[in-house]
Amino acid sequence: MSQTPASASPLAPVKRPLNLRETVLEQLRTAIITGELAEGELVSAPTLGQALGVSATPVREAMMDLVREGLVETVKNKGFRITAMSEKDLDDLAQIRMLLEPPAIRMVAQHIPDEAFSELTKLADACLRAAEREDLGEYLRDDREFHALLLAYTGNPQLVDLATSLRRRTRLYGIAALARDGRLAASAHEHHELLRLLRAGEGEAAESLMCTHIGHARTLWATGADDAGTDDATANGNTAHATPEEGAPGGA
Ligand SMILES: [Zn+2]
Repeated sequence: MSQTPASASPLAPVKRPLNLRETVLEQLRTAIITGELAEGELVSAPTLGQALGVSATPVREAMMDLVREGLVETVKNKGFRITAMSEKDLDDLAQIRMLLEPPAIRMVAQHIPDEAFSELTKLADACLRAAEREDLGEYLRDDREFHALLLAYTGNPQLVDLATSLRRRTRLYGIAALARDGRLAASAHEHHELLRLLRAGEGEAAESLMCTHIGHARTLWATGADDAGTDDATANGNTAHATPEEGAPGGA
């Protein structure tokens, strides 16, 4: 009775809805990544629960997950503190991702079966739509899924876990501003370009594009600033500002 479509089917895979705890986890994670919950801020589960319209329990559970992921620290008798990340920390994270992901993408270029591209394209499309809606939580989630699926073709689940963990810990304080002025959507096409290169077996070009893609996390994505921008990105004095051309954010 199973009507499971073949992998080459045009049908979209059904996305399992998140349960309450997962929804709370994603919302809190997004708030930390985007800086809506500021680093160093002290928060309590009841207060956050109130803001989210849920009880303290799922918040506390989600916070414990975020403690394990390194985004949050417990503060005895007080609650939780959003982990502070220095510029050096963020540079170090980006460096590890640079060492890991672009060569891995080059590796998978010859190993992605044709039928896998329909699902990858759907995830890239979902990123684009989320960017257009300025739904940052959905965008970040689809982006993680897209890259994890690509990296899965290395056949190395430990690499996938490591890369996903590094991506989760990367702060993108400029992303909300980018989404607001449309640049996030305009640039989300980088995922589609990556798929085009991989489909053509152009591993070297895909590796190079992946470097650019991750690079956004420490330039445009970090601050929302472009070459015209002398905005409030004061925390990024040592970060090169990207031009609109080379700095198009693609969902690093
Ligand atoms: Zn991306």
